[in-house]
Amino acid sequence: MDHRLLQSVGFWAFLFSVDGDLAATARQAGCSCGGRLHRADYLRKPRGGPKGLSREHCYRLSFCCGREGCRKRLTPPSVRFLGRKVYLHAVVILVAAMRQGPTPRRVRELAELFQVDPRTIERWQVFWRDNFPQTPFWKVARGQVALLGELLDLPRALLTAFFRDDEADPKQKWKELLVFLSPITITGGLKSEVLR
Ligand SMILES: [Zn+2]
Repeated sequence: MDHRLLQSVGFWAFLFSVDGDLAATARQAGCSCGGRLHRADYLRKPRGGPKGLSREHCYRLSFCCGREGCRKRLTPPSVRFLGRKVYLHAVVILVAAMRQGPTPRRVRELAELFQVDPRTIERWQVFWRDNFPQTPFWKVARGQVALLGELLDLPRALLTAFFRDDEADPKQKWKELLVFLSPITITGGLKSEVLR
């Protein structure tokens, strides 16, 4: 797993196009009231990616129903943004995974590589260890992936499962993993079952 891919503009352009496809699918389906959806993107300040990302990368694609009296907001799943987290989803996965394993990377090194506060890295580790496994998504979806690394910690187990084929293009593997996880990126997607 090469972390430098996450620092390339081309990688984020690729994921942006995937988000475009996810948004197009959601738009086609329309609002549950039958109304048409209009673009109403959210301005974000994504962190952890390369310098020089163009402005389109600062938007979470989103829609609003055009029907008077409804105006419901619909934000499709994303392969770039993880709920309200500021850092890009792939960074939240990769940095936490790099802390795991037989030779974990030092916090200081990761903080420098991805320009992230050590306390934030610690929160991500807590997220993957305590919060993510409690989501309704994971309780169902874990059965869908043959986790080669069933005994490994999250999120390293996910990377191990999705990146086991060395031949495939790493961009495609990231796409598969991030599309797989995309249900947790919508509103309520991270609600823990324990809290309900
Ligand atoms: Zn509507």
